[in-house]
Amino acid sequence: LKASAAVIAGVKIVTVAVPVLGGLVVLYFADPSQCRLFPPCPIHVATGLYCSGCGATRALHCLLHGDVSGAMAKNPLVVVALPFIVLLCLRPSLAQKPALPIVILAILLAYAVLRNIPLYPFVLLAPH
Ligand SMILES: [Zn+2]
Repeated sequence: LKASAAVIAGVKIVTVAVPVLGGLVVLYFADPSQCRLFPPCPIHVATGLYCSGCGATRALHCLLHGDVSGAMAKNPLVVVALPFIVLLCLRPSLAQKPALPIVILAILLAYAVLRNIPLYPFVLLAPH
């Protein structure tokens, strides 16, 4: 039984941790605002509107370089949500709450609406 738990842990590391760390290494060295490795957001290209993920890749690139204010300028939700995402990864049992997907969806939808309002202070939510 212990051996199978170790195998499962190893599979999780190989299938989740290695790709995530590999992606972070690529994101560290490749600036999304400078290179074409990262495609633009299809929602923004099609509509001109910012989705809740717009600027997230650039924000993560900034965070990997210790630039928190730059990350906040690109996508403040990523900066605020990142500790919770890490917590949910470390404690998956917390993600078992039935209301969590609804709360997350509501936050993402509200954020997408608010960051497209062309008035202060909402403009601070748009990537800049
Ligand atoms: Zn987008």
